[in-house]
Amino acid sequence: MLDSLLIANRGEIACRIIATCRRLGVRTVAVYSDADRDARHVRLADEAVRIGPAPARESYLRIEAILEAAARTGAAAVHPGYGFLSERAPFARAVGEAGLIWVGPPPAAIEAMGGKDVAKQLMRRAGVPVVPGYDGDDQGEARIAAEAEAIGFPVLLKAAAGGGGKGMRIVERPDELAESLAAARREALNAFGDERMIVEKYLRRPRHVELQVFADSHGRAVHLFERDCSLQRRHQKIVEEAPAPGLADATRAAMGAAGVAAARAVGYVNAGTIEFLLDEDQSFYFIEMNTRLQVEHPVTEMITGLDLVEWQLRVASGEPLPLRQEEITGSGHAFEARVYAEDPARGYLPSAGRLERLRFPQVAPDLRVETGVDEGDEVTPFYDPMIAKLVVHGPDRGAALRRLEQALDSCLIAGPSSNLGFLRAVVGTAPFRAGAVDTGWLDREGAAGLAEAEPGDEDLVLAALALAEELAEQGRRRARDSADRTSPWHRTDGWRLNRPHRQLLRLGQGERSWPVEIERLGDRSLVAVAGREHDARHGVAADGSHWCELDGRRLRFMAELVGDCLLLVHDGRRLEFRLPSLAAAAEPADSGADLLNAPMPGRVIKLLVAAGDRVTKGQPVAVLEAMKMEQRFTAPRDGIVTAVHVREGEQVPEGTRLLDLGDAP
Ligand code: ADP
Repeated sequence: MLDSLLIANRGEIACRIIATCRRLGVRTVAVYSDADRDARHVRLADEAVRIGPAPARESYLRIEAILEAAARTGAAAVHPGYGFLSERAPFARAVGEAGLIWVGPPPAAIEAMGGKDVAKQLMRRAGVPVVPGYDGDDQGEARIAAEAEAIGFPVLLKAAAGGGGKGMRIVERPDELAESLAAARREALNAFGDERMIVEKYLRRPRHVELQVFADSHGRAVHLFERDCSLQRRHQKIVEEAPAPGLADATRAAMGAAGVAAARAVGYVNAGTIEFLLDEDQSFYFIEMNTRLQVEHPVTEMITGLDLVEWQLRVASGEPLPLRQEEITGSGHAFEARVYAEDPARGYLPSAGRLERLRFPQVAPDLRVETGVDEGDEVTPFYDPMIAKLVVHGPDRGAALRRLEQALDSCLIAGPSSNLGFLRAVVGTAPFRAGAVDTGWLDREGAAGLAEAEPGDEDLVLAALALAEELAEQGRRRARDSADRTSPWHRTDGWRLNRPHRQLLRLGQGERSWPVEIERLGDRSLVAVAGREHDARHGVAADGSHWCELDGRRLRFMAELVGDCLLLVHDGRRLEFRLPSLAAAAEPADSGADLLNAPMPGRVIKLLVAAGDRVTKGQPVAVLEAMKMEQRFTAPRDGIVTAVHVREGEQVPEGTRLLDLGDAP
């Protein structure tokens, strides 16, 4: 086993690789750009070397800088992760020439599989089924048109050098070909510096099923079963699972054999993935091979109980594969969901910014959270906006799906937008639950409908009840912590100086906000939303979940206030509300007399009047600080201050009467 490893990557995958190295006692060297100086992978590694400015081109893609970092730190090997330089044969070659161990396949295998055209030719010769199509050298438009005609429309144009869905065009009819071809070529030239195209039969409703293969340098090759990555948006994976639901045993066996044959055909060593499209009739076709560790490798680890990074390091060190094919077994079912900083409702627009709040579910043997960030870190616009991968395991698909839902429900992200609500909605749809989605399903379905979790009246009622309870609880905590324990202002039994306590709360989402008014009547509350009043009883159970009796029904839900973000999980949906500032979130229900009641727990930072003072309407009388916001109180009318109930510096619970106003003589 090698003793030190440089990880030529960042983010979650760098952290993931470091975790295995830790366990195996391998010293780790991270590299970082200026944008990542304090990134999690840098914090976790034994040593880290700066390799350049933020743009990847000037840092993570600079072969020279990475080799120099390896030399400076005496690293024995280089792991490329995925993305960046992971599938660049010249990099693999340079690593070898520098006398370092390359944790990946031989450069020749990367090259052979690097072009979709050459890869398909190779696979055809190895007897692996490929999608019917054209992958020849003649790139003339006439030839491509003739081939498309022969294949039969619709066809798919693909950049031979392609990846990430770029340079791809579906062509439905012959008269669309010329224009689509020109567009796909432009895109391919831009993205890959190579405009060669292949043409494929466009499968209407395929599933994406891929096979994890592994080969060692002693001529042995095995597979570690398949992953289903059919839940895609714009040809990019967002949820993956293993095993593939509904895959016939015979198909699984045939796919395994084809994958191993494919790996052998290119003299493959280390981890690789053979991607297939599975047609509705269970026939499968090779589309490409990824010559690296995949983003979604953890689902394979979950069902096999193996550590693929450990296998990679062992194989790279020259050890034989740890297990034979018949010793590799899969059990249960696993899912991975990719949590992105993006806005699915706005065309998956990436979002950047500081992760003000970041909460993940508790990790457990059946739940992994793979992330490259911590709370307070920045999602920068320079790299992939993935925040985390949630990986779950269950004894069967249904159980694993429930675990995934729970995991999604207990995440909280405040700062950049995230696709959490979208993921939650998607995994709850009937087609996904049935394991019946094809790769185009989500795009046909339309993200907007799934992404917009518009709160209903019931959601607003529950959110407001939970928020009011949380604000009251904060008041109780502050009172307990405050010096003056005997002050009547710390009473939390609903005692009020004047009359039933009413609160107006404002729940915001993006540009919109909804006012909710709550009136407490003993253990009940009257909650007014959108002009309708609801009679509610609300409480928090021992397990932290909330319950509510609402208009004759009892509901169970989850709610949590973290900073200025209220998370509500109810009825299979998750909603996040922003409370723009709590000063604005909690206003007195009616202007006038109530204006002199503290609308939330806070500290009196200034008293501007004393008993006996004459005041005029609008004159500032006190300043309260709550949630780092200052709120000024003004006299609601002309009058005389008859009593001041609070002192400067005092913590007051919500609802506290600050002062009394009498009529001027
Ligand atoms: P890339 O390398 O750009 O990711 P792939 O060839 O791996 O491109 O294909 C990506 C995705 O595009 C597949 O998972 C599938 O959703 C879709 N796709 C690719 N080829 C076809 C095809 N012939 N018919 C239908 N869909 C396809």
